[in-house]
Amino acid sequence: MQSSVQKRILITGAAGFLGSHLCDRFIQEDYHVIAMDNLITGHIGNIEHLFHLPNFEFYHHDVSKFVHVPGHLDFILHFASPASPIDYLRIPIQTLKVGSLGTHNLLGLAKDKKARILVASTSEVYGDPLVSPQSEDYRGNVNPVGPRGVYDEAKRFQEAMTMAYHRFHGLDTRIVRIFNTYGSRMRIDDGRALPNFIRQAIRGEDITVYGDGLQTRSFCYISDQVEGIYSLLQADYALPVNIGNPDEITVLELAEDIVRLTDSSSKIVFQQLPADDPKQRKPDITRAKDLLAWEPKVGREEGLLKTIEYFKFAL
Ligand code: UDP
Repeated sequence: MQSSVQKRILITGAAGFLGSHLCDRFIQEDYHVIAMDNLITGHIGNIEHLFHLPNFEFYHHDVSKFVHVPGHLDFILHFASPASPIDYLRIPIQTLKVGSLGTHNLLGLAKDKKARILVASTSEVYGDPLVSPQSEDYRGNVNPVGPRGVYDEAKRFQEAMTMAYHRFHGLDTRIVRIFNTYGSRMRIDDGRALPNFIRQAIRGEDITVYGDGLQTRSFCYISDQVEGIYSLLQADYALPVNIGNPDEITVLELAEDIVRLTDSSSKIVFQQLPADDPKQRKPDITRAKDLLAWEPKVGREEGLLKTIEYFKFAL
């Protein structure tokens, strides 16, 4: 039942992978959750199980256009955005608009409602990094005019705009820089390495490793990511905070792990590396540890096994 003290939170991108898990987390904490998504890359099935709840409502809306929410809001989580490299190529202008115009609309809404806002940024603000691990002080190596530029630059603009609202309007803001995250509700066809490899391994198809597979990533399991974001929202800190798992592996090792854990007969094949593909990515999470007393708990094998189970069910 909705009480007068129940906190109200708006979550954009609510039908996406991260957004839907955040809806679950805040419902679990007895918030009133207002979910918003235009369903371009989100999937309504990810939040369908919440529709019957009195403290959950859903708006089918594109946040690049003016956002109206009746009633008061305590918090806003801005998670609406395409997040896979193949999506940036397919819908580059929407990607730029949601990170820029969408962010501006939500900062304006937060100011109007006197709400605290947390925006989802990304390790992509570091581009193809020249230092490793990447701490929040590293300023990045981004190609603004490459295929990933639409995402990277929109997120860099988002950070700048958020800090401007914080400094100029005194808005209560948070910025999370999310590193590669995985788990249930990832789109099986979103084109990223982890769902591709698991799908290919389960079906016995060739595993497509791009380039020589020696580029690295560091994969964080969804429950750890959600806890990091939850803690950051409660903390009092406006500058960006990396949330990710520093357990760095090569893409080839990831492919080998997935073949082994699925007991698959698939073989690994090498395909062309996409333009501007970062060579290494590993978060320095010192800031999150110090500030939030947070660190990832789920190991790679445990997380991969849970995700493989989900994809076997989803396929
Ligand atoms: N990748 C791959 N095979 C695939 C999909 C991706 O080897 O089928 C590589 C991709 O080139 C990149 C890494 O895996 O080096 C991670 O890519 P992903 O799309 O998951 O996300 P990114 O971290 O690049 O945003």
